[in-house]
Amino acid sequence: MFVVQKHAARRTHYDLRLEMNGVLVSWAVPRGPSINPDEKRLAIETEDHPLEYQDYEGVIPEGNYGAGAMIVWDKGLWIPHEDDKVGLEKGKLLFELRGYKLHGVWTLCKTSKQSQGNEWLLVKKPDGWARTGHEAEVAESSVLSGVTVE
Ligand code: MN
Repeated sequence: MFVVQKHAARRTHYDLRLEMNGVLVSWAVPRGPSINPDEKRLAIETEDHPLEYQDYEGVIPEGNYGAGAMIVWDKGLWIPHEDDKVGLEKGKLLFELRGYKLHGVWTLCKTSKQSQGNEWLLVKKPDGWARTGHEAEVAESSVLSGVTVE
């Protein structure tokens, strides 16, 4: 499974999490995923989260790491099109999403060859699920409860 949690922390971002090896491998995407293939989105690899975190919605209290509101912005199945463990190691993942909002083929590619780098780019591949212009806008509410981070 995969989940995208919208997180109104000090700076609002979207946490993309892919289930791999029994954990949620995670990236913080400041501007969120775009279904427009021309919009490359920075995705900063962050710490793995436990699988139980996938349905978390709520307000992380002041004084705690990541304080602020979080909603489940999208979730569903992710289907690797290439070996995901090798891809994570090499810094290149090709996969399909079957969520409520996000569909079709996507790539996540490390921007730097250096093994220390944690910056990746999340990009929609051109396919029948890609959209441009105002058609690329996606609802901001939770797919679980309908609430927004506001
Ligand atoms: Mn976050």
